[in-house]
Amino acid sequence: MMPLFNQRYQQALIDRQQQGLYRQLQCQETTSTTVNFASNDYLGLAQEPAIIAAWQQGLAKYGAGSGASPLVTGFKVPHANLEQQLTEWLGYKRALLFNSGFSANQAVLFTLLQAQDHLFQDKLNHASLIEAGMLSPAKMTRFAHNDMSALQRQFSKIKPTANTASLVVTEGVFSMDGDCAPLASLREMTMQHKSWLMVDDAHGCGVLGEAGQGSCHLAGITADILIITFGKAFGIQGAAVLCSDETAEYLIQFARHYIYSTAMPPAQAVALSCACSLIQTQAWRREKLQALSDSLEHQLDKCIGLIATTTPIKPIIIGDSGQTMAIAAQLEQRGIKVGAIRPPTVAPNSARLRITLTANHNDADVHQLAMALNEVVDVR
Ligand SMILES: *Cc1c(COP(=O)(O)O)cnc(C)c1O
Repeated sequence: MMPLFNQRYQQALIDRQQQGLYRQLQCQETTSTTVNFASNDYLGLAQEPAIIAAWQQGLAKYGAGSGASPLVTGFKVPHANLEQQLTEWLGYKRALLFNSGFSANQAVLFTLLQAQDHLFQDKLNHASLIEAGMLSPAKMTRFAHNDMSALQRQFSKIKPTANTASLVVTEGVFSMDGDCAPLASLREMTMQHKSWLMVDDAHGCGVLGEAGQGSCHLAGITADILIITFGKAFGIQGAAVLCSDETAEYLIQFARHYIYSTAMPPAQAVALSCACSLIQTQAWRREKLQALSDSLEHQLDKCIGLIATTTPIKPIIIGDSGQTMAIAAQLEQRGIKVGAIRPPTVAPNSARLRITLTANHNDADVHQLAMALNEVVDVR
């Protein structure tokens, strides 16, 4: 008899295929002539020679790996330096490094929340946040995207006791829509209800704000907990939690994702420090993104339905998954790679092209993109 697991897999895979939602890995050639409008490398730092050189110098000095979790012996001088640099840049007492944004989000929500607590999340928050919230002991409610009156209604339904803490979690910039959270209003409402505000600024950090400090700085607020990730604008990998002294100490004692996971390679921390300096000093990368963004919006036919955003993320909602895949394939034939995003990553019937600009694109790339979109996208 076939083991039960196999039967389940087979059925699930058949269902996926029939729904037009089957996903396939595609190995990307670095030599490919296709112009990539599907990466999160917004500032074009993933191939930056200064960062590659910093990583190499870090390797020569500190070796390939950290050798242990942070509390054992994995925490080295480059980690401490990077944390210090992040706290000064972003205006927090402490920064704690994680190997990924996914694990940082899980660590924070699992560690902070208890059964009597209330967790409020924007409906469109990243899968890592929603999953962590579901697995946490707290009561989680999701509020309609960026809808302050929906959040207010949910606050008014809870009966706080002396023992109840509440936490509101939002993204700074929403990854699949490119729009921004109403952070000033969220800060005001959370203060009113003595709730904490946590902002996952994976897509805002490096991109928004004068020196790239991100969404909160741009909105003039300070979140109680700020999550930044290094796989997007930093062009590398990893994450940090920015918080108070007490929160950092609490996480170090109790966050299992921190305690029981090997520290990132020290050489990577050296590379991240270099990226952090470039983000702060090379404002031209943000200015170029803005210019490319204006140019794209200007060259596109209006009927295409590109959603204008203040970030490098430009969605075109198509709706049907099959049609979205077909359009992405047509663009690929024209030398253009865009993200084709289907449910369950986005809501049912909201499959979309997700176009992202980077500081490495030039005017000709954006022109090629605009002409191809004008030709193949027919939303109406
Ligand atoms: C990418 C992303 C994460 C996960 O970060 P990784 O470092 O890639 O694991 C978390 N939150 C948001 C909003 C993201 O976009």
